[in-house]
Amino acid sequence: MRLAGKVAIISGAASGMGAATARLFAREGAKVVIADVLEHEGTRVADAIGAGARFEKLDVTDEESWAALVAATQRHFGKLDVLVNNAGVSGSAEQDLYSTPAWHRIMAINATGVFLGMKHAIPAMIAGGGGSIVNLSSVAGIIGSEGIHMAYNASKAAVRLMTKSVAVQHARHKIRANSVHPGMMPAMRTSGRTADPAIRAERLQSVPMRRAGEVDEVAYTILFLASDEASYITGAEIPVDGGAIAI
Ligand code: NAD
Repeated sequence: MRLAGKVAIISGAASGMGAATARLFAREGAKVVIADVLEHEGTRVADAIGAGARFEKLDVTDEESWAALVAATQRHFGKLDVLVNNAGVSGSAEQDLYSTPAWHRIMAINATGVFLGMKHAIPAMIAGGGGSIVNLSSVAGIIGSEGIHMAYNASKAAVRLMTKSVAVQHARHKIRANSVHPGMMPAMRTSGRTADPAIRAERLQSVPMRRAGEVDEVAYTILFLASDEASYITGAEIPVDGGAIAI
């Protein structure tokens, strides 16, 4: 098993790619903490996995919530090896693409949430002799996008560079940090325009593979980066986008 003996926290694991990653990690031998604001859905994901999984309530924007989550993980599973910063909100539901409150909300969840997660996970990883951090950015963290709030691009670009910063600063602690950049995937819970079938069909025309990705295609990439198979990979960014940004 590719994650035998590892303990992982996955934020935003109540749905979508986070839930798929939690199921895959558990199948590969990890103990998994499913962390999300959605208590009901998160508990369901953990219960379906069984003994190797726990749900913990987490609001990624709340520093105390992160401190409590890392402490609970160490208490229950004894250590922390892997952090997947996956929680996020879309910028495509905003009617006003210049809304200042939207800027603050999207940045708080997508960028500050990742900063806080790494801030609280890194000391636990150092105490355990190392670890692997996988941060969910997006192709929107590398190129501009139409019809989404610019905070989404900015927040995902922040994730991309925060990841490289941590990779450089903590290599000596045997902590690796990498970012994953999905392209068109099943819509997020918070998607607006980008969930519209007509807009999706139009966007697919610029994807070389002419199809959207599946959640497991992202989960397998996260699994690889989390595992010791990626032991010499840090500070890397991996698009999972059917070739969208290769054009
Ligand atoms: P999703 O909406 O299905 O899941 C996001 C999860 O994050 C939800 O369970 C939600 O409750 C949780 N969340 C939101 N705010 C939170 C908070 N403050 N604290 C804790 N949890 C919170 O979306 P998804 O498609 O699974 O997306 C996962 C990640 O991948 C996100 O970071 C997203 O930006 C990124 N991404 C998604 C796509 C896509 O098209 N779906 C493409 C590129 C990147």
